Amino acid sequence: MPQHLDYKEVPLVVDDTIYAVKEHVSHGQVDLFSRCGHRYFKDYIEGAKAWEETLPTAAGTAVHEVIEEYERERRDDPILPLFQKRLRDVEDVEGLEFWGKKDLRWWTNKGLPLIADNYARLRAVERSKGIVPVSWEDELLWTTPHGQLFTGSVDAIRIRTSDGKAILIDWKTGKQKDAHQMQLELYRVAVEELGLHDVAFGQVVYLSDKNGFANTVMPHLSVEVASKIIGHPREGTYPYTGVLTGECGFCPHRGTCPVGTLGDTNVLLTK
Ligand code: SF4
Repeated sequence: MPQHLDYKEVPLVVDDTIYAVKEHVSHGQVDLFSRCGHRYFKDYIEGAKAWEETLPTAAGTAVHEVIEEYERERRDDPILPLFQKRLRDVEDVEGLEFWGKKDLRWWTNKGLPLIADNYARLRAVERSKGIVPVSWEDELLWTTPHGQLFTGSVDAIRIRTSDGKAILIDWKTGKQKDAHQMQLELYRVAVEELGLHDVAFGQVVYLSDKNGFANTVMPHLSVEVASKIIGHPREGTYPYTGVLTGECGFCPHRGTCPVGTLGDTNVLLTK
């Protein structure tokens, strides 16, 4: 493990000629590449990424599933008991030792009620504006003008009855991130290029935010720009940029990465 690593010694690129590029990319991959090319390489080219179920991810999945069922069945009763029941069902399958009881109580008594309130507020606004749910979990498979296959799944699509335009929804049960706006904007371009809908805007709905849901504020990307962003990870270099973007602190490859093993990213930045 290197004790002293000069920033200039860190290899900035890994030649991709010995590795196959990804057949398709998702927004999550594009976003990770923008934060650290090398982590992207480890997770998606070498395939080191392992899925780990946690209470927040299980609760998020339960919320997504319940909303889809609730809207498909055109229900109008309170959604909170359905969220709580679904989480209890998952809890029964996984076992309590899987999660801390305190965290589970927080999700059941605070997190899910907040999510149910925000969801009800959003639906009330939608009804007052004549916005109607029409589809859920639409899979996108779009080949960009640069030849990269882009994949994604839109949580929900609404139609604005006043002009027939679509609103793309992505439910989030975690914190706000700038990357979410980019995700919806790339989805908007893909949906329009695939000829599925004329899209008014993409809306990221932060269901557990005390301030409720948020509209996207990103200006519309052109097809050319969206295509370049999606094609970015294919450029064949995997730079160690985690040190610059703050990614290293959360990176599972810290122990083996020449940058991460140094442990003090500030040193690298000041060299
Ligand atoms: S430790 Fe930092 S530089 Fe290394 S792969 Fe992870 S995020 Fe990238």
